[in-house]
Order: sequence, then C-alpha cells, then structure tokens
Amino acid sequence: MLEVVFLGVGEAFDEKNPNTSILIRIQEKGAETNILLDCGFSAVPQVWKEIPDPEEIDSIWISHFHGDHFMGVPPLLVRYWEEGRKKPITIMGQKGIKAKITDAMEIAYPGFTERLNFPVEFVEIEPGEEIYFRDNKLRSAENEHSRRDLALRIDSGDIAIFYSGDGRPTQETKNLAQNSTLLIHESFRFEKEIPGHGTVLGSMSMARDTGSERLALVHIQRDERQKVIERLKPIQYVKGIYQILVPENMERLIL
Ligand SMILES: [Zn+2]
Ligand SMILES: [Zn+2]
Repeated sequence: MLEVVFLGVGEAFDEKNPNTSILIRIQEKGAETNILLDCGFSAVPQVWKEIPDPEEIDSIWISHFHGDHFMGVPPLLVRYWEEGRKKPITIMGQKGIKAKITDAMEIAYPGFTERLNFPVEFVEIEPGEEIYFRDNKLRSAENEHSRRDLALRIDSGDIAIFYSGDGRPTQETKNLAQNSTLLIHESFRFEKEIPGHGTVLGSMSMARDTGSERLALVHIQRDERQKVIERLKPIQYVKGIYQILVPENMERLIL
C-alpha cells in the first residue's frame, strides 16, 4: 500500500498554505518506508504534526535549493537531535546536496552537524542514474527553473509517482513521467507563462501526453489558488483520461 500525504501545498510566500511538501508512506511486507519530498521553511511544522515520532522519516528528497524547498531541513534535524533520534536519515538530491545542507546547518545552528547523534547519509540522484532506496526505484530529470531543479520519479511495485519540484516541464521530465499513477506538478499560474514555472494548463497537457492516471496541482500562486479551485471544480475528470485534483494541506490519497 502506498499513501501520499500533501503536508503543504503552497508556494514560497503564501500566508495560508505551508510550502509544498509531500510525504510518501510505503508499506511493504510489514515494513514502512517514509520518504519526504521537499522540506521548506514553512513546511516543517506540518511534518512534526503528521509525524511526531523522530525515528519515522527514512529519507528526504530535495528538488532544488530554494528556501521554500530545503530550509526546513536544519530545524528538522536539530529537533531530531533534541528528541534523541538514533536511526540514520538519508538526504537525496542533485549534485552538491551534501555541501548545501551542511552549509544551511552551519548558518542556522552552527556546530550542530557534528553533534547530531544519528548518521546523516547523502545520496546524489542525477539524471540518467537509477538509485534504489529499499525496494523503490528512484530517477530524476531536469526541469526548467531559475535554479537547477530535478523532478523525481519513484517506482514502488506497480505504482509510479512523479514530483516536479518547481519548474516548467521539459522533454526530459515528460519522458520520466510516462504512465505515472500520480503526477504531482508545480502549477504556479493558470495559463500565464512565466519563465521557469509551470502552469495549470501545461500540467494538464503533461498529464495527458504522459498517460498519467491522476494529476495533483501544487505550488499555485497565492492570489490565484482559489480561482484555480473554482475553475477546475466542474472538471475533475478530463475526458475520462485522468483525474485532476487540487489537494488541500494534509489531504491524503491511497494508491
Ligand atoms: Zn518553490
Ligand atoms: Zn524554486
């Protein structure tokens, strides 16, 4: 069984919705694997609400180095230190992930990296690489964004989840997203093209072109989110091809 929890669905500076951050809970053969997708500055309290147990998160994927996607990692790790975590944690992302997280830790809580009483392991997943985290296959592809952003695909049994991070789709991300069970895409504006960002219409085309079963729109511009919800209400299913949803914070999906 695989559960997706949309801990936060907001963009960087939204006062109502915490930064986009998604928890993937995978249950297999009696064991549970918890992977967190992005952890921004306003997302981290959502993580604590959903998963108060300091041992439960196994891995964090960071799509790119904008604060609303990775600045929640230092407080998360330091709270785990406070609460006596012992289990290793794996932080995954693009080339340079270790240096960036170490720097962020040093700025936020100097000297704490050495004091953590649990191992922090770093794994780079560059486009073209295939990494296994337990039984789950992970691959990445580069989006078009103002900072280098990698979209992630997780294959777990016959379920495939694609998460864009921030950015406009590229041919590479479309290739990676083929036949996803769930396509989670940043959709900053409804239709207005902004360099380096996705749109609702672009995400809908991507879901159709990739043969994805469900599309979840996240990271919608704060003044546009309500309008997007209103405009999409009557649609929900696009020509019977895929289901479209605009998840709320803490909304869950069982796949
Ligand atoms: Zn962002
Ligand atoms: Zn960004």
